[in-house]
Amino acid sequence: MIRSFLAKLYAGYAVLVVITALLIGVLVSGRIEQDSLEDVASELRAQAHLLAAIAEPTLDRHADRAILQDRVGQLGRELGTRFTVIGPDGLVLADSDEEPARMDDHGERPEVLGARTGGEATAVRWSSTLERRLMYVAVVVPGAGPDGAGEPRGYVRTALPLTVIDERLAFIRASVFAGAVLGVAVALVLGWFLARRFSRPLTEMTEAAVAMAAGDYDRTVTVKGHDEVARLGEAFREMATQLRDRMNTITRHRNRLLAILGSMVEGVVAIDREERVVHLNAVAAQILRAVPGESVGRRIWEVTRVREVCDVLAEALRETRDVQREARLAASPRDLVVQLRAAPLRDGRGEVVGAVVVIHDDTERHQLDAMRRDFVANVSHEIKTPLTVIRGAVETLLDDPDAPPEVTKRFLEKSVAQCERLSSLLTDLLALSRIESEEGAVERVAVDLRKPVRECVSRLSTEGEKSGITVEVDVPELPVVVSGDEEALRQLTDNLVLNAIKYTSEGGRVWVRVRTEGSEAILEVEDTGIGIEPRHQERIFERFYRVDKARSRAVGGTGLGLAIVKHIAIALDGRATVESVPGKGSTFRVSLPARSPSD
Ligand code: ADP
Repeated sequence: MIRSFLAKLYAGYAVLVVITALLIGVLVSGRIEQDSLEDVASELRAQAHLLAAIAEPTLDRHADRAILQDRVGQLGRELGTRFTVIGPDGLVLADSDEEPARMDDHGERPEVLGARTGGEATAVRWSSTLERRLMYVAVVVPGAGPDGAGEPRGYVRTALPLTVIDERLAFIRASVFAGAVLGVAVALVLGWFLARRFSRPLTEMTEAAVAMAAGDYDRTVTVKGHDEVARLGEAFREMATQLRDRMNTITRHRNRLLAILGSMVEGVVAIDREERVVHLNAVAAQILRAVPGESVGRRIWEVTRVREVCDVLAEALRETRDVQREARLAASPRDLVVQLRAAPLRDGRGEVVGAVVVIHDDTERHQLDAMRRDFVANVSHEIKTPLTVIRGAVETLLDDPDAPPEVTKRFLEKSVAQCERLSSLLTDLLALSRIESEEGAVERVAVDLRKPVRECVSRLSTEGEKSGITVEVDVPELPVVVSGDEEALRQLTDNLVLNAIKYTSEGGRVWVRVRTEGSEAILEVEDTGIGIEPRHQERIFERFYRVDKARSRAVGGTGLGLAIVKHIAIALDGRATVESVPGKGSTFRVSLPARSPSD
C-alpha cells in the first residue's frame, strides 16, 4: 500500500521535475539562440554600413569596378564575411566570394527588397550555392540628393554562414540539456530520499496497524516533529494505547466470566443466531457428552444428541422468550433429571444475537424426593399393619364380651406383640432420624471398641442360647481405639449380632470379632445362617429393604437395623459391608478409622 503510495507520489514529482527542466531548457536555449542571431545581425549590419561608406564613391564609376571588386574581396577574406555590392537595378557589382559576372539578378532577394523599402533588412535562409544556412543583411546606399533623397544608388549586402552560430547553439543546447539532465537526476535522487523520509512514518504506522489487526497490541510508533504526519502518528499512538487498554479490559472481563462459568455447578451452553456453539462450560460438556474444545463454532445439534437441550435453545431463539423445561436424560450409571432454563441473548441494542441455556442437574433432589415418598409410604405401611391387627383383636373382643378367657388372652397377647412391634419400629425410626439429621448426635470421643462389643455379646448370648445358637467373641488383648460414641457403637453391634441370631437356624454359630488392620479398626460378625443372595447384598442396607418380608416380621425385624448400622458407620467416617454365601452364612464387616490410644 505504502510502496504504491510512495511510487505514485514519486512518479508525480518526477514528471513535474522533467517538465520543468524541459521548459526551462527550451526557453533558455531559445533565448540564447535569439540573442546570438541578434548579435550576428548587428555585426553584419555594422559591416554593411561600413562597406556602404567604402563602396559609395565607386558605385557610379564603371571604371572603378575592378578596384571595388578587389577591395570587397580583401575585406571578405579579412573579416570572414561575404560582401556583395548590388546596383540599383539588382545587378551584382562586386562580390567577395564569387565572380559578379556569373551571378544572377539580386534585385528580388528578400533582404534587398526589404532594404529598398525600409533602408535595411535582415534575412536568414538556406543557400543552395553554399549548402548552408546564412544570414543576410542588406542596406541601401541612398540617393545623391540632400539627406539621401532620390533613387537609391545601390545596395550593400553582408552575409555570414550561421555554421558557427549553429555550432555554438548546438553546444549551448547540449550544455543546457546536460545541465537539465544533471538537475533532474539530482532532483530525483533528492526527491527519492525526501519521499522515503516522509513516507517512513506512514510505513511504520501501516506495519503497526497490520500487527494490531493480527492481535499484537504492544506495537508502538515513533513520532518526530510537529507536522501533520507527526500529528497523525500521535493520534495513532493514542488510539493504539486506548485499544490496548480496552482489549486488556475485555480480556480481563472475559477471563473472569470464563472462570465463573467454569466453576459453576450448572451446565451453561451459549449459541449464536445460526445455532453455533459460542460457549460450553465443563459441566455442560459432561452432561451433553461433548468435547468443549471441539464444540465451539459447530452447530449445537452436531455437538450433542440431547434433543431437549437443542429444542429449548431453538425455542428461546425462535420465540425470543425464556423457556423452562424438565428433562430426563439417559445416562449411566443412572438417568439424569435436569432443569433446563433457556433465554435469548441480546446485544447492546436489544437485538437477539443468540440464546443461552443453563442446565441444572436435579437428579439428587429427585432421588431424595422419591426416597422420601417411599419412606413415608413404607412407614405408613409398617404402622398400618400392626394397627390393623390390634384393631381387629380389640373389635373382636368388643363384639364378643363373653368370649372364653383363653381366647381373650390370645387376642390381648397378639395386641401386645403388635404394640411391641410398633414400639421397636418407632425406636428404630427415632434412632435413624437422630443419626441422620442431628449435627453432633453421634459423639466423637476415644472409645475402646472391645468394651461395647463385650457388653453386647454378654447381653445377647442368652438370646442366642434361647434359639440354640452359640455366640462367640474374639477380641485382642490390646485396646482397639476408635473415635466414636459408645452408645452408637453398642447399637451398631446389637443390630448386627441380633440379625446374625435372627437369620441363623438352631444349632448355628455366631462369631463376633474385633481387630486392627493397618489404620482401621474392624468389627466383624459372622454367622452360619441362611445367607444373602448377591442381588440383595447391595440393597439390604436400604431402609425397609428385606430379603424375605414375612421372615423378617416373624422374627420381629423392622427393616431398619442395617440402615442404622450403615449410617452410624458413615457418621464415624467408616463403612459397612457384607460378604455372604446363600445357605452357608454371612459376614458383616464395619471398618472405622483407628485411633492410637494416646490421641
Ligand atoms: P430386619 O429388621 O428385617 O432384620 P435389617 O435392616 O436388619 O432388617 O436387615 C435387612 C434384611 O437383610 C433382613 O430383612 C434380612 O433379609 C437381611 N439380613 C440381615 N442380616 C442378615 C444375616 N445375618 N443373614 C441373612 N440375612 C440377613
